[in-house]
Amino acid sequence: MAGFSGKTVLVTGSGAGIGRATALKFAAEGANLVVSDIHVPGGEETVAMIHSAGGKAMFQHADVSRLADVAALVAGAVDQYGQLDCAVNNAGIEGKIAPLADQAEDNFDAIMRINAKGTYLCLQAEIRHMLQAGGGTIVNLASVAGLIGFPGLSPYVASKHAVIGMTKNAALEYGKAGIRVNAVCPGGIDTRMLDSLAEQATSGAQSSSQMMDPLHPLGRIGTPEEVANLIVWLSSSEASYMLGAIVPVDGGYVAQ
Ligand code: NAD
Repeated sequence: MAGFSGKTVLVTGSGAGIGRATALKFAAEGANLVVSDIHVPGGEETVAMIHSAGGKAMFQHADVSRLADVAALVAGAVDQYGQLDCAVNNAGIEGKIAPLADQAEDNFDAIMRINAKGTYLCLQAEIRHMLQAGGGTIVNLASVAGLIGFPGLSPYVASKHAVIGMTKNAALEYGKAGIRVNAVCPGGIDTRMLDSLAEQATSGAQSSSQMMDPLHPLGRIGTPEEVANLIVWLSSSEASYMLGAIVPVDGGYVAQ
């Protein structure tokens, strides 16, 4: 793996879960981290973990669904480190489980605002900077729910299909400018989000592992680190010919 020494990496939603694991992995590879989250204690804890491992990181609060926050986030990264080389648009929510006809309007709006519009606003701000800087890499967090449907999760599925669409468009529009945009599609990953989905689906009767392990051909859910490994590789020079790729990291889920 080519190192990230001297590179600046922004990870949204890195106060927990996949975002935190990704920030820790980049920092271990030598990157300067911009840790961002709507949840301040989680973000500060990630920064403390990076510092205690000898890495470099700053925290900046941002709600990815707010244009002013996103603009300030990218500006803050450039102010602190002089540049932004890599971005990971990871912040997202799962929302409430219900059949489509029973979904509340505010659940649809919240999921689309954070997962779809949030990713879009981040792409815009990051690409504007990277165009001036002469290039960069961006990885968007889609999901297996961006490739196939999941009963009960129609707003989430719609938002992740949107993330895949904007990933392809950004890749087509900015590849020649040296900006590589790709997306990853995790299967069930052991985080708070999967715990919430298992709790809702089984009314607390089953853990995420009990509910989801058998659904994956590898026989288990994944770890945040297994997703982080792919994200960091896609951001590295070893992935120099990857553009507009939509890459599952799902224990075989969509091979079924
Ligand atoms: P998580 O809930 O553990 O972490 C998400 C983080 O995003 C939290 O720290 C949260 O505070 C932050 N966040 C939420 N709304 C935000 C906002 N408006 N602005 C900024 N930060 C915000 O979830 P996770 O499982 O680590 O999910 C990370 C990403 O991976 C999400 O986009 C999710 O949809 C995707 N994903 C997760 C799974 C899974 O099984 N866990 C599977 C496929 C895709």
